[in-house]
Amino acid sequence: MAHNSLSEGIVDDALPLTSHLISTDLQKQLQAPIYVAQSMAQNHFVHLWLKSNQGDTEQLFAFLKKTKTLFKSQTSFLVDHRTNKYYHFDGRTSVLDLNSPEGSWYSEVLNYAQLDYVLNVDVSPQDNFSPIVYVNHKIMVNNELLGVTGVGIQLDDLQHLINHYQSEYKRKVYFADHRGRLIFYNQEKMPSDSLASEFAEHYSAIVSQPSYKFSIEQHGVQRLVNSRYIPDLGWHLIVEQAFTPETKLTDALIANLLLGVVITLCILVIAQLTFNQYQKRLETIALTDKLCNVLNRQAFEPLLQRHILRAKPGRVPLSLLLLDIDHFKQVNDQHGHLVGDQVLKHFAQLCMSVADSSDIICRWGGEEFMILMPNSYIDHATQFGERLRAKLAACDCIVPITISIGVAQYQSQESEDDFIKRADDALYRAKRLGRNRVELAA
Ligand code: GH3
Ligand code: MG
Ligand code: MG
Repeated sequence: MAHNSLSEGIVDDALPLTSHLISTDLQKQLQAPIYVAQSMAQNHFVHLWLKSNQGDTEQLFAFLKKTKTLFKSQTSFLVDHRTNKYYHFDGRTSVLDLNSPEGSWYSEVLNYAQLDYVLNVDVSPQDNFSPIVYVNHKIMVNNELLGVTGVGIQLDDLQHLINHYQSEYKRKVYFADHRGRLIFYNQEKMPSDSLASEFAEHYSAIVSQPSYKFSIEQHGVQRLVNSRYIPDLGWHLIVEQAFTPETKLTDALIANLLLGVVITLCILVIAQLTFNQYQKRLETIALTDKLCNVLNRQAFEPLLQRHILRAKPGRVPLSLLLLDIDHFKQVNDQHGHLVGDQVLKHFAQLCMSVADSSDIICRWGGEEFMILMPNSYIDHATQFGERLRAKLAACDCIVPITISIGVAQYQSQESEDDFIKRADDALYRAKRLGRNRVELAA
């Protein structure tokens, strides 16, 4: 897409603009010499001199020289039509041979019966390929052609402008005259010397349309071309630019894609890390009791089921303690709910400090807790309960509390509900027998 828009930009904007600037500049530069040639052709002295059958040639040379000096042109000249004699401003004379290459321009001027003047360009390596434009103006008196006169100028400014386009933008600028012959302006010769052979299939469009743009593919290079007809001169101005696929663009595309991939990966990694973190936090929130910072019932139940499954065949022991704080309602009633909360929190911390890392502590609800002890026999669990009770008794708490504990060891093939029920029954018994004690399930 970048390639296409680049080439469209050149064909649609850059080349037409260059072409417009050059043709404007050319027309501006040719205005003065055309006017001078016209004045020469209408000069009364010139008419008299031609009619007097070549009177005083010194006077004619003086006239030509003065014109050349005043106008600062490269040359000035006059051709007497009756003798075909060519008068050069520096005093040289010669007779034009209309069939020779040197005299062909004159026959060309004569061919254009309807034109007052014909422009002719001479480009030679001696002039460093800087062309000289000759304005050849017919001298007509009473519809009779007496001769041709005019000046030749070097279009230096135009040359600079064209060279600038060549060096800055690698744009070739050249002209085709009214016969379709290519006049080159850049300091390199055209591959062919006629418009028809250079742009065979586009030739008819170039010569028939005021402006025309096209592109042709040659030897792997795309030539983008813009042509414009300059009616005052009868010339076609051609501006051309070679367009080679830009490897930099492809490199930039690949670099952009790679950068895009890297950025996408970074975002994915960051997003994944953030999601994981949130997921963990959500899990922790969902599975932990907020007040006591131990597992809640939801988190505990699957663990209990898993350990029951392991213990079911009867090969590994599993014990469960059900703990209930005694007369907790009174704690709330006497000290308020906030203190009650602190007591619950402190009790949970105490459980954690006494328990092993393998023991699973859960707030079963209210002021009831459950502790599951994998690989533990009932004796071990009972000892743990007693230790906890002793710790509570020794604790220098703001509100002294006691607990009742029911302990049960899993019996092979027992259901989860039965297992809990037996622990619960033991707890109930502990309450009934006066609280602050550990009772073993049947
Ligand atoms: P006992 O178990 O010895 O028979 O007497 P109790 O007073 O502990 O028994 P009960 O189960 O009737 O009362 C439990 C009280 O625990 C009732 C309730 O207000 C209180 N409680 C439950 N959850 C919370 C809590 O999260 N914070 C506070 N402060 N109190 C709670
Ligand atoms: Mg209770
Ligand atoms: Mg209680």
